[in-house]
Amino acid sequence: MKSTTLPMSSKKHIALVAHDSRKDDLMEWVRFNRDSLIQHDIYATGTTGWLLQHELGVPVHRMQSGPLGGDLQIGAKIAEGEIDFLVFFWDPLEAQPHDPDVKALLRLAVLWNIPAATNRATADFMFSSPLMHQDYERIVPDYATYQRERELRMEQFVEQELQTSTTNVPKVMPSSEDTLI
Ligand code: PGA
Repeated sequence: MKSTTLPMSSKKHIALVAHDSRKDDLMEWVRFNRDSLIQHDIYATGTTGWLLQHELGVPVHRMQSGPLGGDLQIGAKIAEGEIDFLVFFWDPLEAQPHDPDVKALLRLAVLWNIPAATNRATADFMFSSPLMHQDYERIVPDYATYQRERELRMEQFVEQELQTSTTNVPKVMPSSEDTLI
């Protein structure tokens, strides 16, 4: 897929999520990084967000609780370009009822090329980067071109359908490997 870039401003849109067994860990990290964290816009899943509001005393954009769809809401915001930084302390020792959502969120973080810390050391290294306070051009999938290519393939298919409806040639759905136009 072709790529393009999205600007990330010095004020980042940061999502924080922690599974129950990792919430203490996240809150300690948040306490330590409070001064820099509150310079950014903060998003979180329901319960994590509630704790963050109490800890930081600043507004937090709260989603549903993780098991009720909060991870997917954060993932959707990543896909829409609204969130550009993820701190996700997931539990490596217990299965979660919403494991597919956890996987989906991590997949989208990779797909949309956002910095994603899944443990404290990574979060420390990421947060101490000078890039935290600078603008940054993030390379992302060029969705508009991707969508247009799909539409062109569909146009080809419809045209082929129209032709074969008169000639009776077998119908072949275009694949992503087919040359366009
Ligand atoms: P919570 O959800 O913040 O509502 O606990 C986190 C999660 O389990 O993904």
